[in-house]
Amino acid sequence: MESLTRGSMACPVCGTEASVGLPRSTTDPIVTSEPSPDLDAAYAGDGSGRQKRRQFRCPNGHSLYVYFEF
Ligand SMILES: [Zn+2]
Repeated sequence: MESLTRGSMACPVCGTEASVGLPRSTTDPIVTSEPSPDLDAAYAGDGSGRQKRRQFRCPNGHSLYVYFEF
């Protein structure tokens, strides 16, 4: 497993490395090619503000949705 904090991750659609920017303390990131209602609900916030979703794009234009805690 690669650490996302290093600044890149594989696109779930085409596998190309995409640049991402996540907090260094990010733990257990989940990447999807589309927003997930279940994950949106799970990461909508537990009140701590430490759970987020960010969207990135791979060099081929695919969207990456990264759910993470930091
Ligand atoms: Zn891609």
